[in-house]
Amino acid sequence: MKKLIKKALVFVLSAAVAAVSCAVVPATGAKAAEPIVVVIDPGHGGSNLGTDYLPIPEKVYTMVVAQHMKERLEQYQNVQVYLTHTEDVDMSLKERAEFAASVNADFLYSLHFNMSLSHILYGSEVWVPSSGQLYSQGYSAANEFLMQFEEMGLFNRGIKTRIGSSGKSDYYGIIRESAVRGIPALIVEHCHVDHSNDASYIQSSEKLKEFGVRDAEAVARYFGLVSKDGKTDYSGYAPLAVPVPENRVCNDTTAPYYVSANLLKYDQTGKYATVELTALDDESVIQHYAYSCDNGLTWSMLQPWTKGSPTMTVTVNMGYGRKDSLIFKAYNLYDASTESNVIRLN
Ligand SMILES: [Zn+2]
Repeated sequence: MKKLIKKALVFVLSAAVAAVSCAVVPATGAKAAEPIVVVIDPGHGGSNLGTDYLPIPEKVYTMVVAQHMKERLEQYQNVQVYLTHTEDVDMSLKERAEFAASVNADFLYSLHFNMSLSHILYGSEVWVPSSGQLYSQGYSAANEFLMQFEEMGLFNRGIKTRIGSSGKSDYYGIIRESAVRGIPALIVEHCHVDHSNDASYIQSSEKLKEFGVRDAEAVARYFGLVSKDGKTDYSGYAPLAVPVPENRVCNDTTAPYYVSANLLKYDQTGKYATVELTALDDESVIQHYAYSCDNGLTWSMLQPWTKGSPTMTVTVNMGYGRKDSLIFKAYNLYDASTESNVIRLN
């Protein structure tokens, strides 16, 4: 937002000049506004494949989506769009941030696709800078991306920070290197390539294009852009206002401190159990629960937790055959989990 501040200053100064000299003031209003500079960073490249869980590595997906995002954004007025690289080359995170600084970027968007070691996570998430105005700008823009992905049907895994081991800077290089240059940067993790829930989102070129278009729309909304044909006008749109935090916003490194399961009803067929769950965490929200009917040997797919609520009532389909126990796990925003008490069913 440096430019907006600059613009505001110029306005205040010219108003002051006008007040003093009130006679002949040269018209300056006709000059077109300085364009917003957007840098899109296709994650990985060259020998850095990114996630290579699938036969097609992540770097291919990020480049395709980045090209679509650029093409769509260029349909808007008053925006200058760059890619950190357009060829399949190695590029360090520092070089990417340096490039963004060299073009005087207002924002850098690093595009990625995710996978988890456990292969149980699904959905979209966005990583943002952890301090000051960069946090506010990052959070507000990240919110736009996640709203777009939710509209596509993806699970919203939230907006996150991650602090390096020193405790004094961001863990992720692209965010850290951009932050030292005063540029807000996001890591946009579109979906999980290793989960069946998300698989269909990367299975066709149309779907990948939709990610690029959605990414561009998020940026257009955040900056209040107007399309060249005048048909799309976000100039009156207000993105989420996020106060500048006083201290660094740290990620939650501990699991929920209390999880309990209270059996409300166990149906006579032995197939359905209705349970009231309670999960508490001081540092981040509860995001998921899962259950096991075989003493923790196997677990259900992660289920969404009711956002913002410490308790929820769930009905579990345990399949056929009487089970003798039921255990739950609750997961917080950062995927750390705690097991509940064991419910004995006989
Ligand atoms: Zn990646």
